[in-house]
Amino acid sequence: MGTEKEAVLVDAGISRRQVMKRMKEMKLDISKVKAVFISHEHSDHIKGLRVLADLHRIEAYLTNDTLHKAHRNYHPNSAHVFEAGDIIQIGAFKVHSFAKQHDAIDPCSFRIEIEGHNIGVMTDIGEACDHVKAHLAACDIVFLESNYDERMLDEGPYPYYLKERVKSGKGHLSNRQAVELVETAGCDKLKIIFLSHISADNNRVEIAMNEFEHLQKQYQILPTSRYTPSEIVQIGTEQLILN
Ligand SMILES: [Zn+2]
Ligand SMILES: [Zn+2]
Repeated sequence: MGTEKEAVLVDAGISRRQVMKRMKEMKLDISKVKAVFISHEHSDHIKGLRVLADLHRIEAYLTNDTLHKAHRNYHPNSAHVFEAGDIIQIGAFKVHSFAKQHDAIDPCSFRIEIEGHNIGVMTDIGEACDHVKAHLAACDIVFLESNYDERMLDEGPYPYYLKERVKSGKGHLSNRQAVELVETAGCDKLKIIFLSHISADNNRVEIAMNEFEHLQKQYQILPTSRYTPSEIVQIGTEQLILN
């Protein structure tokens, strides 16, 4: 997400080439990106970090455990270490980090505050823990995991152990669980929900959107894709791009 002058990224799970291609498509300038925050060490969140950070001098932020658990190939030349719960100021952005439930060494999510507005990036959530609920309640915009359709997962191709892992309290949020989370923790100021981390095997955009249908009067619900940039939305004077 960014303003006219500066921007921060959350996670770097795609290659630098893809990031460049998508930013160009959306007429965004990578030189404005000051920092990238990594949520956990799974490769779909970190594999582009080293090249992105080193080539573009983007400051990398991750926890000590995440850094050490991450594959060496993903390590940037230098990194800033934080602890879950820390608030880190990057230019005009105040980045609130918080712990979440997921099967990684030290998983975190982020709420980014700018000029009184709050944008949450909450994916890879095994369950809607108190941290997630409390931070969601402060968001104007949230990039929320809606990972799987429960029936598709049950009837789908994953082996038993993987199905159990996805469903567990340290796996991912289903469409239904994401709806429940919004219903219980979404507040009046919440305007836009990006449905994110939609599984290629156990979900479809139409199914996730359908699950959220009754909430569409209250919120703008926007799907995201792992293959294309999501649309740019504006809040206050800021611009936001996610994905
Ligand atoms: Zn993960
Ligand atoms: Zn993930």
